[in-house]
Amino acid sequence: MQATVLHGERDIRFEDVTAPTIVKPTDAILRLSATCVCGSDLWPYRGIAPVAQPTPMGHEYCGVVEEVGSAVTSVKPGQFVIGSFFASDNTCPNCRAGYTTSCQHREGVGGAQAPLLRVPLADGTLVRTPGMPSNDMLPSLLTLSDVMSTGWFAAEAAAVQPGKTAVVVGDGAVGLLGVLSAKLMGAERIIAMSRHESRQKLARELGATDIVSERGDEGIARIKELTHGVGADSALECVGTQESMMQAIRSTRPGGHVGYVGVPHGVQLDGVELFFSHVHLHGGPAPARRFLPELIDMVWSGKINPGRVFDLTLPLSQVAEGYRAMDERRAIKALLQP
Ligand SMILES: [Zn+2]
Ligand SMILES: [Zn+2]
Repeated sequence: MQATVLHGERDIRFEDVTAPTIVKPTDAILRLSATCVCGSDLWPYRGIAPVAQPTPMGHEYCGVVEEVGSAVTSVKPGQFVIGSFFASDNTCPNCRAGYTTSCQHREGVGGAQAPLLRVPLADGTLVRTPGMPSNDMLPSLLTLSDVMSTGWFAAEAAAVQPGKTAVVVGDGAVGLLGVLSAKLMGAERIIAMSRHESRQKLARELGATDIVSERGDEGIARIKELTHGVGADSALECVGTQESMMQAIRSTRPGGHVGYVGVPHGVQLDGVELFFSHVHLHGGPAPARRFLPELIDMVWSGKINPGRVFDLTLPLSQVAEGYRAMDERRAIKALLQP
């Protein structure tokens, strides 16, 4: 088959690779219905997190079970499934506590920008939809594999509450779905930090009540102005840079919560500042597996349409253009059709 491989900085190729097969009896092979490029794929693409050797790319997926290993009992060929970017057994103490991305047996799922994908720990990882989805539901179902679950976790970790104020740092797909999640969790005021007009518009459509385009000290001052001088109850950090992390912490009121889901790159926190900030910090890789059943229900019933973050759809063979468009911020998120 042909699939996506990163060879080095900005060198994405769609090339011949060996098709995946069942390696362990707990594996499943999926025929993917849709996949996509993630904001986190841009770190190695840009050479900020260099790859040591040619690396198969992609970790967001949904599709039809093609084959299962002899130990798999919860899914069977022909069923439509969604899974997380980390495979998990869903039975160990960390999974039972809800932190499936810290599963004691977790395995990364890689190489999803491809027609076929091997998913380890299939029983724990994959969740079935109620039936075969229509094509127009695929983008929204695909977001549950990572970005929607990650936005949801940002809001949960930031302890978003009905009637309270949430600020969302980052206007990528995760930030935008963080806005939607804060709305679903009942936040009364949702302040989206964004400097891009098209993203501001989508943020408003997804539930943002205010937009702040300033950054740094000016951005923090604007949040304080909008919150009677104290800061937001919740901040969702959806970028992973020093600037965005400090933006989130300094925009949060004493006693408030920061949910951080941007993969940190070079983030350093000062102990004394943290001590006096009085904020709660919680975050990490979203335990998407825990959220899948509830989020699938919401998509299936038409209550939410998180697939709106895809503003570019390409055949999988044009994956390199998807990376370029996201790198140049011409696209929020690129959906790939195998
Ligand atoms: Zn991702
Ligand atoms: Zn586990």
